[in-house]
Amino acid sequence: MAGIYIHVPFCASKCAYCDFASFPKEIGKQEAYFACLYKEMRSRFAELKEKRFDTVYFGGGTPSFVDPKYILGAMRLIKECANLSEGAEITLEVNPGTIDRNKLRIYKQAGITRFSIGLQSADDDLLRRIGRIHTRVDFEKACDVLKGYNLSADVMIGLFDQTKEIVKNTIDCAIAGGVKHISVYALTPEVGTPIYTDYLNGELPDGDEVADTYEFVVGYLKEKGFDRYEVSNFAVKGYESRHNLNYWKRGEYIGFGVAASSFINGRRFTNVFSIDEYVHFLLNGKYAEASSEVIEGDDAKFEFLMLALRTRDGVDLKVYKSVFGSDFTADYSKAIKSQSAYLSVTSDTVRIKDEYLYVQNHIILEFMR
Ligand code: SF4
Repeated sequence: MAGIYIHVPFCASKCAYCDFASFPKEIGKQEAYFACLYKEMRSRFAELKEKRFDTVYFGGGTPSFVDPKYILGAMRLIKECANLSEGAEITLEVNPGTIDRNKLRIYKQAGITRFSIGLQSADDDLLRRIGRIHTRVDFEKACDVLKGYNLSADVMIGLFDQTKEIVKNTIDCAIAGGVKHISVYALTPEVGTPIYTDYLNGELPDGDEVADTYEFVVGYLKEKGFDRYEVSNFAVKGYESRHNLNYWKRGEYIGFGVAASSFINGRRFTNVFSIDEYVHFLLNGKYAEASSEVIEGDDAKFEFLMLALRTRDGVDLKVYKSVFGSDFTADYSKAIKSQSAYLSVTSDTVRIKDEYLYVQNHIILEFMR
């Protein structure tokens, strides 16, 4: 089983913290972009006839900002050219303020089964300060339009003067909207983004405060019936994201569009970041890869454990053995011993204990030595 990722690099405006491949001023290029994206999809799928795909994910950018005919076109092409499983999970990222019933009609035709909504916060003042274009009411309206669908929401922590009460209200707002899956990300002030200046000026909470908010979120979501199945992801049982679970299992996926990454047939590659460059490559009959590497041996093993240890279930020892032909506990005996206080080890799995999942990076680093 493998996943399909499609990158839609257009947004209504640029948020203050964003360093993703999203280009608000380039919406005029959507026709050329999707023509090239379809070209890339046709060529790749012709080479991947033996692969079966179980999930599709439209991410961005803001996929709900572009004309929905492009989403429909991409889905028609997938159904025509790729081997897509019956009952596949098909997710579209949506931003409040960019979704209405007319668009939903087309998404229905396209076969979208799940919507991931960029809520971030239900506090209008905070939303304005991080440069989001929507309000809490826009989120509520979006949930009303998407009622009855499998819904996920993104929530950010580590924002200006963000109290636990504000975070609690945000979670309550998401749950009231029918959301069954919540992704919680701490703001990362990337160099070059406008918010980085606020970070330098000490206007954002420090690491300890963010960790404290995170622990609060874990407890509150648990009370509300949301189980943490990965360090940043929480779901009501049965609503986990199949697409993301595939990433953490080091499953295969093929990505299309600018900045999209792929991992297929043992090779990991990423497309160029600029729309113009991407279009240029495709119009000249070439793929737009900016980097490519084959990951083998110890690097592949480390990648496998690094992804698995982010999840509640950890490393499945039988799967590890079947993939690499060796025993995980023998390959990493030194790290398992030195990190034993933080790990839960059984005859089937090795996982990070719940209370240490937030600091998994430090623990995982020990497996590199
Ligand atoms: S909506 Fe998302 S992708 Fe678009 S600018 Fe804001 S953070 Fe970036």
